[in-house]
Amino acid sequence: MSNVTYVDLHTHSTASDGTYAPADVVRLAAARDLSALALTDHDTVNGVAEAAAAAAEVGIDFLAGIEISAEYPHPGTMHILGYGIDPASPVLRSLTATLLGGRDDRNPKIIAKLQAAGVAITMVEVEAEAKVVKPDPATADAGGGAGGEPAQKKPIGRPHIAAVLLRKGYVGTIKEAFDKYLAPGGLAYFDKERLSPRTALQMIRDSGGVAVLAHPVQLRTTNDAQLETVLKDLVDHGLGGLETIHSDHDAAHVEQYTALADRFGLVTTGGSDFHGTNKKDIHLGAARGGRRVPRAFYEKLRARVEAGRG
Ligand code: AMP
Ligand code: ZN
Ligand code: FE
Ligand code: FE
Repeated sequence: MSNVTYVDLHTHSTASDGTYAPADVVRLAAARDLSALALTDHDTVNGVAEAAAAAAEVGIDFLAGIEISAEYPHPGTMHILGYGIDPASPVLRSLTATLLGGRDDRNPKIIAKLQAAGVAITMVEVEAEAKVVKPDPATADAGGGAGGEPAQKKPIGRPHIAAVLLRKGYVGTIKEAFDKYLAPGGLAYFDKERLSPRTALQMIRDSGGVAVLAHPVQLRTTNDAQLETVLKDLVDHGLGGLETIHSDHDAAHVEQYTALADRFGLVTTGGSDFHGTNKKDIHLGAARGGRRVPRAFYEKLRARVEAGRG
């Protein structure tokens, strides 16, 4: 292995809305010569145990992660990554249960709205699309259940609904499904219950993790002062890092966010936001445009995780 290696710290698996199983994301990372990977599924750590085991097998470093959506005014979105969280911690389990509850409230409303608009779609089809396997009571403890508890449910979201709409020919692309039906302004849009940024930060820290602001470009702040105000408030409430390299960031963003991270004493993180074939233009191991994430990002993040535990 050369002395400069690369990592990917933002990835999704079939535990949420990616199309590769957790172990397959890890194997692909090894095949692409990455030396470390973090799995950051939306609202769940159910893929973490499988990914960690696969990483040990193929000999790359692994960091447990999660990505959660926090309250933030439209049209922006605020996603917070939690790294090094303990999947078995009671706070983490309560966090994921809350987030899944929010989805349980929302998904049936979207389906009902689609049905009212004449779209033939059912929750059963969406669950099948997400490949939710009903737990077999005999083996309910296997596969991701931490501490002998049964594995939690899978976060089903709009990408799974979009996939059904596409498969049944109601739309020609996933993007069309969002534009026409699922995104704000769409026919069947419903927001989901979100945590406040402060609660999200607190729960990540109480789970033993380091909280990182994901893809700051998606905040859609309109000037530097506004971005700095948002960032300062997050830092005051325990933010530990800023994602500088991401598939939605161009060179100017990377430069701006790196300077801000420096100024606020945050670690810089980065990743592709790989979702498998659900986002075909995003490849594991490099952000859109080909920018790669140096191993030093992983080392510094890991050090901060360990400092937090110390
Ligand atoms: P949900 O968790 O149900 O709110 O869905 C969020 C997921 O939908 C994320 O993976 C987004 O990348 C994806 N998403 C959001 N808006 C769009 C869009 N306009 N086109 C395609 N995917 C989208
Ligand atoms: Zn996603
Ligand atoms: Fe995100
Ligand atoms: Fe993501």
